[in-house]
Amino acid sequence: MPFAGRRRPLVCRDAVPLMSDHLDGALTGRDRERLDAHLDRCADCTEHLAQLRVTVDALGRVGVDDVSDASIDELLVLYRRWTAA
Ligand SMILES: [Zn+2]
Repeated sequence: MPFAGRRRPLVCRDAVPLMSDHLDGALTGRDRERLDAHLDRCADCTEHLAQLRVTVDALGRVGVDDVSDASIDELLVLYRRWTAA
């Protein structure tokens, strides 16, 4: 992809992979600016980031073994609904 330029505004598809880095505090410089700019004008991604934050927060407090299959199913449904939108 020779023209996957870094000056092109982010689209949602590009923003999503940056979000987990953002939550890890691992996003720096231009990527962070681009994500912030995208979030400013994209309600869907803002919502998705909020959900991610809740998920990460929840997963941080419980062990993976403590997450019920039902909870995982619920998260998957949410995620699929969001990615299908
Ligand atoms: Zn978006």
